[in-house]
Amino acid sequence: MLSSRLCRRLQRVVQWRSVGCVSTRRVHCSTQLRMASGKLQPAKRATGHGKNLWVEFVALAMETKAINLGQGMPDFGPPQHLIDALCDCSQEAKNNQYTRSQGHVRLVTALANMYSRLMGRQLNPMTDVVVSMGAYSILSHAINAFLEEGDEIILVEPFFDCYQPMAKIAGAKTVFVPLRPQGQYAGHSKDWVLDPGELEAAFSPKTKMIIVNNPNNPLGKLFTTEELTVVAELCKRYDVICLMDEVYEWLTYSGTKHVRMATLPGMWERTITVGSAGKTFSATGWKMGWGIGPEHLVKHMQTMHANTGYCYPTLLQEAVARALEVETARLGQPDCYFTQLAVDTERKRDEIAEVLREVGLEPIIPDSGYFMMADTTPLGIKFDSGNDEPYDFQFTKWMTREKGVATIPPSAFFSPANKHLVEKFVRFCFIKDDATLQAAYAKLREWAKELKSEKKT
Ligand code: PMP
Ligand code: GLN
Repeated sequence: MLSSRLCRRLQRVVQWRSVGCVSTRRVHCSTQLRMASGKLQPAKRATGHGKNLWVEFVALAMETKAINLGQGMPDFGPPQHLIDALCDCSQEAKNNQYTRSQGHVRLVTALANMYSRLMGRQLNPMTDVVVSMGAYSILSHAINAFLEEGDEIILVEPFFDCYQPMAKIAGAKTVFVPLRPQGQYAGHSKDWVLDPGELEAAFSPKTKMIIVNNPNNPLGKLFTTEELTVVAELCKRYDVICLMDEVYEWLTYSGTKHVRMATLPGMWERTITVGSAGKTFSATGWKMGWGIGPEHLVKHMQTMHANTGYCYPTLLQEAVARALEVETARLGQPDCYFTQLAVDTERKRDEIAEVLREVGLEPIIPDSGYFMMADTTPLGIKFDSGNDEPYDFQFTKWMTREKGVATIPPSAFFSPANKHLVEKFVRFCFIKDDATLQAAYAKLREWAKELKSEKKT
């Protein structure tokens, strides 16, 4: 039984809450009034990029219950030893508390050990590594730490879509240089190349940074040493920081090699390499990213991170550290998770390419990553001319609704002037469980049948 004193206290709380509700309504009205007067208007940096590709297309896939070959993420779990490490380390009290801001000591040590091997130089775990919330945050810290209002940043297209709003938030001017299809067919990611003259023309005394995504999303292109050298020489000549988004570093296929910009002569000093535990361990929901580079660059990113989030969750850092220790010892061997994932994903790449050809789509075979672009032109599908959305946005939305397979429009990864290069393409993500892929292939094959019978009649 409740004591009468407690009952009176509870009554007071209830009264207070109901008064609170009334006053909340009043506050709501006066808020609207003040918004009209402008004081509650957002800062300029928060406007003009409200529409987010992933928010829109994830919602569409959910609403239509289409098979989701859109958003880039595996639908299977990470390696068991990573999950086990997470469970084990959660038992230790200290792993449930804050950790070192710049990165948990065991993790930055594991990262420094791995990248020292990969980059052929001894890295200092305390000064050359920063850990934050996904590659997204690492990119944001790099951009915000170095770009001033009026600086120029070169984005190589296709770019990952967040680079553009991040640069805008920092007040920088974006300058775009696209990879262009070379030759008549351009059916392989390596057929898409930078024009060295066009790239050089993009550099100016105001250029402070360039971002290159290698391996590239959505093309799957791997830049060759020669191509990276052209970028590197311009960076050195114009004293520019090179921000290398290398989150798909482990997903490279037979006969290819991922060359790291940071290993080219004179480039360590001016290169920040971005990695992601989400991609490395098929754990995109863990949202852990890292930046690797020289102390004089990384320390400013550490400052940005310390003052915006302080530290990334300790448990996840401890678990990834343990898993990286295991995989670094196995690097290059058949039992290494990174090797196995690439072998399995390459098989999926080849399968999906075949199925897309059955439908009449023309795939661009990627050398890396887990996306495939495919040209829809041969299908000749036309849409309502009153719709001013790019063709690929109309196509992907129509395909999600009508054919039950969700994809992503690749023109979202290009500036307005260069969207035309890929407007007739769609992007498929093929790092999915075999059962998901088979279900998608069944839908695509049904579509192929319909197209065949339409042709006959
Ligand atoms: N860069 C590229 C090229 C990506 O595709 C993604 C998407 N995962 C990111 C960065 C962001 O990675 P994270 O999930 O680690 O923030
Ligand atoms: N990087 C993933 C892709 O390209 C998704 C990123 C996101 O969902 N924000 O599909």
